[in-house]
Amino acid sequence: MPDLEAEFRCYAELNDFLPQGRKHASFRYRFDGAPSVKDAIEAVGIPHTEVDLVLVDGESVGFDHHLRHGERVSVFPVFESLDISSLVRLREKPLRSSKFVLDVHLGKLARLLRMLGFDVLHKGDYDDPEIVAVSAAEARIVLTRDRGLLKHKAVTHGYWVRSAQPRDQIAEVLARFDLYSQIAPFRRCMVCNGHIESIDKSQAWDRLPEKTRRYYDEFYTCSDCRKLYWKGSHYRHMQALVRRLGGAVGR
Ligand SMILES: [Zn+2]
Repeated sequence: MPDLEAEFRCYAELNDFLPQGRKHASFRYRFDGAPSVKDAIEAVGIPHTEVDLVLVDGESVGFDHHLRHGERVSVFPVFESLDISSLVRLREKPLRSSKFVLDVHLGKLARLLRMLGFDVLHKGDYDDPEIVAVSAAEARIVLTRDRGLLKHKAVTHGYWVRSAQPRDQIAEVLARFDLYSQIAPFRRCMVCNGHIESIDKSQAWDRLPEKTRRYYDEFYTCSDCRKLYWKGSHYRHMQALVRRLGGAVGR
């Protein structure tokens, strides 16, 4: 049994990672030696990417702070609305480009994010090392249902998606990263993340169903996979969804 202990308290949505009894309450964390506060937080169950501020006895510290017996540790999630610029933020700055890489379980969320114009990589056969590598190489935010993935050292920006429902997931991600001002719907292909370009009806003609030829005049195509898009009933459903999510529908 380790004989040193610190008192931990985790705030706001970080409690999602804690078992009953540790949620919204102070608890004792027992340890040996002098682990980094980052290792201690992950041992408690919280991926480091979820954490933006750590106070030890009221002072902000970096992840490399070594825990000492008797310290009081307060752990805070990423704040989008609260100014903590005078304290030590654990991440240098948010990745404002808002590019993402998603784990294999989040295919529908990938399509919704692309629909809103975000640059999203996702493959049905990604393995963890590949996601970590893509995230590090291209400065992409990892979105995952697997909190273990966020404990990889190379992942600096990530988020554990709580909901299992794609429409709740997208609302969660927009709120967490404050993406509302970056929504630019119908610029990216939902299937492959390519760019959507306008094309003449004559260029699309051969690939159009009879009714579509009759009722529609504006056509778009994906620059990569050549999928055709037009503003049919599916488009109107998507417009309604975009409005509900807080985006302006242009184009
Ligand atoms: Zn495409």
